Amino acid sequence: MLSSNKESITQAFADIQWGLGPTEGVGFYKSRKGSVAEQGPAPSLSFPGAALENNEDGPFQTKSEAEGLGLGDYKDLIAKSATPEKPISPCGAWALISECESGDHHFGKRIYCGREWCEVCGEDNSASHKRRQARILPKIQQVKELGYLVIEWPDWARHIGERGLNPDQDQGDPVAGWCYSKADLQETTNMIIEVLAGRRCGRRGRVGGFFARGVGRWHWFGDQCQGKWNPHFNVLVESGYLSKPELEGIKASLRFALNCPELIVHYSYFDKPGQMVQKVRYITRATFRDYSWNPYMAQDLFNFRNIRWWGNWKGEPAWDLGQAKVEGEDIAGLEAVSKLQEGLCPDCGQPLKVLYHNHRTGQPVQWSRPVDSIYLDIWGAQEISGTGYYRIPRQGWHGYIFSPGELLKLEKLAVKARASPSVSPEARMAREHVNAYWERKRRAWDELEDMGFGYFLRNAGK
Ligand SMILES: [Zn+2]
Ligand SMILES: [Zn+2]
Repeated sequence: MLSSNKESITQAFADIQWGLGPTEGVGFYKSRKGSVAEQGPAPSLSFPGAALENNEDGPFQTKSEAEGLGLGDYKDLIAKSATPEKPISPCGAWALISECESGDHHFGKRIYCGREWCEVCGEDNSASHKRRQARILPKIQQVKELGYLVIEWPDWARHIGERGLNPDQDQGDPVAGWCYSKADLQETTNMIIEVLAGRRCGRRGRVGGFFARGVGRWHWFGDQCQGKWNPHFNVLVESGYLSKPELEGIKASLRFALNCPELIVHYSYFDKPGQMVQKVRYITRATFRDYSWNPYMAQDLFNFRNIRWWGNWKGEPAWDLGQAKVEGEDIAGLEAVSKLQEGLCPDCGQPLKVLYHNHRTGQPVQWSRPVDSIYLDIWGAQEISGTGYYRIPRQGWHGYIFSPGELLKLEKLAVKARASPSVSPEARMAREHVNAYWERKRRAWDELEDMGFGYFLRNAGK
């Protein structure tokens, strides 16, 4: 176990560069050269999870980053056959760690691909699903009444726009359909938001529109007919009861803007916290549960930004999750995860420590590089209600295994050493990579053990 640990760590530390960027979308694949069937393996330019609805689940942007974690082969597997065999999911095998400014609270989070058809991530109430809920809830908690619009296409319109074998070659061309290519879906989403939120008008912000703020997310398949392509856009808006003429006005505007007289639009509204949590849970669930239901769209949706917000969401909460719990909703862990997603410690409220700034984006990085998830077991980490986030108890001892604090310190040192090459012994050590340090530490331990000090070492600091 120890040697495989060491290898994993070495690999993770040596091969993987950070690529944390908050991109949004669905982690689907896209063939860059022609069809899957014709071209054979498509070039693996990106880890499929690179474009999830948040940066929780897939922080990797290049093939080597993903392959370093054994997450890079999936696409090639798929590319070899139109009906891919299911590889064993590597989801959850790696974890990132973090600590808050106080230094007293340590956290871990497993890495998930977030793909809707992943056997791990596609399940209802999977860690990926819960993380999406946790992202949305703090905003939805700001509204007293929640309106829910579903916008759906008539059967005949659902497949218009298939762009032959090169779906991404004509991006930017006039929209040919509504919901059967990434380009069309992007355009359609923009049009819907223009109708609901208003048209952007320079400094005046959005003008016109029906709802001041909202969030939308696509579902790709319905609940009734398994595997039947039925894209529909779910929108949560700040709104309660709408009179019939008001609702008809919205429907007519959508049909006119989208040039689809038979567009299907449903509206309902809720004011109980439990119902609102339920809606958030519903719209964030995965519907593309099987890649083989539509490999063409699965490919085309690669990097598609699935979740779209508008309006100002900096207000105060109007209700809390406890109220939803009273109404029977399972909200366990969601609040803690929301805090961690915002970069705050759920236990003391202090920010998570910034380890360094991403050299490309300048964004602060608060989570470590990936470590083998086996560490979570070794550290006795406690999972936060099936979210893949963990609380790591305070570590006082030293030995074979790094404590989270030590790992984070090493990482900071390594970053510093890369940023400003120096000849200080510490910096040199950091450049040697953690495995060299590890080896040295282990050798020292072995020597002491040989000398008969093992008992004292193992019990030191306990
Ligand atoms: Zn997954
Ligand atoms: Zn804390």
